[in-house]
Amino acid sequence: MQTARTELHLHLDGSLNIMWAYKKALQRGVIAPDSTFEDFYGLLFSNNGYHSAQSIKKFDLVCDLLQYYEDLYDATYDLARRLNDRGLIYAEIRCASQQHNKKGLSQLEALQAVRDGAEKAMQDLPIRIGIINCLMHKGDSAQFNMKENLETIEVTRQLRGKTVVGLDLAGFENNCDYLEYAPLFEKAREYGIPYTMHAGEMGIGSHILDAIAMGAHRIGHGVNCVQDERYIQALLDAGLTCEVCVSSNVKVDRNYAGHPVRKMMERGIKVTLNSDNMIFSRTDCLNEHNQLRMLGVSEEQLMQCTYNSIDAAFCDAETKAYLRKRLEELLCQ
Ligand SMILES: [Zn+2]
Repeated sequence: MQTARTELHLHLDGSLNIMWAYKKALQRGVIAPDSTFEDFYGLLFSNNGYHSAQSIKKFDLVCDLLQYYEDLYDATYDLARRLNDRGLIYAEIRCASQQHNKKGLSQLEALQAVRDGAEKAMQDLPIRIGIINCLMHKGDSAQFNMKENLETIEVTRQLRGKTVVGLDLAGFENNCDYLEYAPLFEKAREYGIPYTMHAGEMGIGSHILDAIAMGAHRIGHGVNCVQDERYIQALLDAGLTCEVCVSSNVKVDRNYAGHPVRKMMERGIKVTLNSDNMIFSRTDCLNEHNQLRMLGVSEEQLMQCTYNSIDAAFCDAETKAYLRKRLEELLCQ
């Protein structure tokens, strides 16, 4: 039985096809013209921990490949196709419209490109796609890019519809006071845009409490809830779903057996399984489920993660009904 049918936490820039990225890097002059594929591959994987400040630069590299409308469009279409090929019925793909403005695209145009690529994929393929636009942590304070983050909310409001479905807060989690972002999420609530936040991924479990206080509808990662019983209880009380990305965490500071995901399941936290970044985490949704199988997680628990994903997805009720019907059909095959 294939239990991996959904993705709720997947970054476009970290999930490119690597050969496509190499060719694009040559075409756009991002790497020297005599660079080989092996050189480029080495640049992508030059250290192990991609959440260090140094390795955040890798995201600058892949973002540099996504500065034109057609490249964002093509990359989104291609990612949707690869997910469809893996048997997924639904994926929420994250972009950050403020990361694609180096060659003259506005945030609105960047988000349009991603939306259009996703909508073309949905015309051609059965997979359904939701786009989540990311607010970014940058610098030491939320003030560092407050203007860009406010624009991210505005363009998301403008394009919100069947395809553009929500907001996220992404970046290097540990470098500022989380609650500084509260005014931004007040604005999102005012506009009725659902949002998730990276929290409790990189060390500070109390960010989960901050995310709950700021009204998050889901938690990106949330695995550091196991640092303190109060964090677990807060997640249970709020009934929030966690977008767990096991291989992504394992690349940083854990091994599979020691990962908190099984404890989270045992405690009754609503868990979903996700890839985060298919390049940098060297994984995909099928591998995530297989890794947990090897740790003794049952088929029923894995399938529950997929049901949790559909329940917590930011898509509209009509799409959810379609997804539940498709899932039932697949289970009968
Ligand atoms: Zn992420």
